[in-house]
Amino acid sequence: MGGPEIDHLIGLLARLPGMGPRSARRAALKMLQQPDARMLPLASALVEAARAIKTCADCGNLDSRDPCSICADTHRDRSVVCVVEGVGDLWALERAMVHHGLYHVLGGTLSALSGIGPEDLNVQSLLERIAEGEVREVILALGATVDGATTAHWLTDLLRPTGVAVTRVGQGVPIGGALDVLDDGTLAAALRGRRSA
Ligand SMILES: [Zn+2]
Repeated sequence: MGGPEIDHLIGLLARLPGMGPRSARRAALKMLQQPDARMLPLASALVEAARAIKTCADCGNLDSRDPCSICADTHRDRSVVCVVEGVGDLWALERAMVHHGLYHVLGGTLSALSGIGPEDLNVQSLLERIAEGEVREVILALGATVDGATTAHWLTDLLRPTGVAVTRVGQGVPIGGALDVLDDGTLAAALRGRRSA
């Protein structure tokens, strides 16, 4: 339509979540109409973010520092660790300001269908954090999917010998639902309504 460079741009944009070819074309056009004001700032923000991004060795969050700003924050309650499937869930809980402890990102859930086993999940560093002795409660904030439930049961069994309290988020997480699409109020209710696992 507008030459190979623009087709390439639209192709890349169309692969982003929430975008399809139609919205990619609209976004590209909007940027191309104001290359200096819209496009170059976006391009340099992308480069800066790509260079700066690190995975926190303690919790698995994405941040420009390692340990991440949450793990490094001395005002947070280090005795409560909320286990989530992905960084998107962590960011959703942070946005909702419902958890004042630390997090742990599993990086997925057990899934026979997708061939994801215990060795594929970020669990070893969770056990190491618990072994350090500061953690008293682990909240399992996994999606209400079959895989989420399987993972929660497996983690509960795995953590039992450590002696920490293991709880699961309660009402509000819809069956089959992922955490990061919930509104803040529902997330808060789910966390408040947690019960022993
Ligand atoms: Zn961290």
